[in-house]
Amino acid sequence: MQKPEKYSWLKSIVAEALGLSQDRAQRLLESRSTRILKYRGITYMTIRRDIGDHYEGTVILYSNKTGEYRVVEGYPHIPRVLLLSRAVPRHFIDNVIVEEKMDGHNVRVVRFDGEIYAITRGGYICPYTTARMRRKYGRNLEKIFDNLGDDAVVAGEVVGMENPYTRYYYPEAPEWDYFVFDIFEGPLEFLSVENRRSIVEEAGMRNVRLLGIVPKESWEEIASIVRGLETLGREGIVMKDPHYRVDPLKYTTSYINARDIMEGMKYPFDEGHTFIFSRVLRQMFKAVEEGWDESRLRMEAHRIGEAILIPAVESLKAHIRGEPVAEQFTLTFYNKEELDEYIVYMYSLGVLITLVSLEELSDGRIRATFVKHKKTEDQFKRIMRTGLSPLD
Ligand code: ATP
Ligand code: MG
Repeated sequence: MQKPEKYSWLKSIVAEALGLSQDRAQRLLESRSTRILKYRGITYMTIRRDIGDHYEGTVILYSNKTGEYRVVEGYPHIPRVLLLSRAVPRHFIDNVIVEEKMDGHNVRVVRFDGEIYAITRGGYICPYTTARMRRKYGRNLEKIFDNLGDDAVVAGEVVGMENPYTRYYYPEAPEWDYFVFDIFEGPLEFLSVENRRSIVEEAGMRNVRLLGIVPKESWEEIASIVRGLETLGREGIVMKDPHYRVDPLKYTTSYINARDIMEGMKYPFDEGHTFIFSRVLRQMFKAVEEGWDESRLRMEAHRIGEAILIPAVESLKAHIRGEPVAEQFTLTFYNKEELDEYIVYMYSLGVLITLVSLEELSDGRIRATFVKHKKTEDQFKRIMRTGLSPLD
């Protein structure tokens, strides 16, 4: 590995930025817990696990132009509720703000060195997301950073069908959009929900939906909000203290618990198998809290069973027919350079993608379709050849 010698100049920066000794910073730099990448005029180091007070996904950005650096804290994990009736009254202080949980991918936006950057949950500057963010919300974000200063971090969910990470159709955002759910400053000081919502609105950007403000004893009211989302096939909620005096909590619908399994089990040897137990657990506690009767229990059991087996068998049959077992997605680029930048980025992350088609739109934009290789395909191949189980 060439990392240590090549980037030893980063050692003092890392030590200062994270409050570590020089030795510890050096070891960190040499370890697999960090990664160093470049994006245009920025060199950045991503932290791939929690280190001290810094969460996974924390990034140190360094300007090659000015020599300045800054830390962008990782977005904290949100604990999950299994029983609203237990968790909500115990956890919160007085009122609970209920916001919609949207199913896309987490993006932190910062302004550094005069430019807007979009950072993924894992702590990578995604060139594609950055390009779309700058074009759609560049001016609005400038307004927010002018107002709050460059120390601020805007956090939100990118949803829609045109992103490389998580694609679900949202009628309010069919292609690509960004819904803000937090703004924090420095070492994770969150703006109050009310303040954040009004700043986002005034800047002409979108907030995630506010679904209610409920006293903590009224967990049944929250359950009824979730029932409403259930019938619409939406993901769930994030419950927040108005002033972040305690951590937010998340809770999801039965619909999404089953759909996650169904999506995952298209690729059982990739994410699929790890999804199953966690979703079964969520459903177990819903069954008792919501007092499912025999017929509801059977219906849900049936739904989970189908979600496990049907997509897996369909993928296997497709493989036998000679079709690829791979994820396909289409992205829109504004020009050829942005397309190249994205391909180089994926390559530098070691993610195997193949460009399968290109289409130039009448406005000059480029629609590119990619497939992403899945481990499941290799496993299917091996099993079809040997007839043996890779598990036992
Ligand atoms: P973790 O368990 O570490 O939080 P995860 O990837 O398993 O991460 P999810 O189950 O999707 O996460 O739940 C947390 C994520 O939900 C957040 O990181 C954020 O991207 C997303 N999210 C969507 N809507 C909201 C919202 N209104 N408030 C906060 N987060 C939201
Ligand atoms: Mg999510």
